[in-house]
Amino acid sequence: MPRIHESITAERVMEAVEDSHSSLANPGFCLACGADAEGVEPDARKYECECCGKRAVYGAEELLMMVA
Ligand SMILES: [Zn+2]
Repeated sequence: MPRIHESITAERVMEAVEDSHSSLANPGFCLACGADAEGVEPDARKYECECCGKRAVYGAEELLMMVA
């Protein structure tokens, strides 16, 4: 399991998942720098981060399983 940035908490991920259920948003997070990402498929893994350029963006639903 990859190291998860300290700013990405279970609470933050859960909120993003809930938001995505009530809207068409596809939230994700970068595990390397903690940035929010948009337009990320729920089960995405290792997408490129627009902030830091690392392939560390995971979909919120995928992350929920990792932080829960
Ligand atoms: Zn990043």
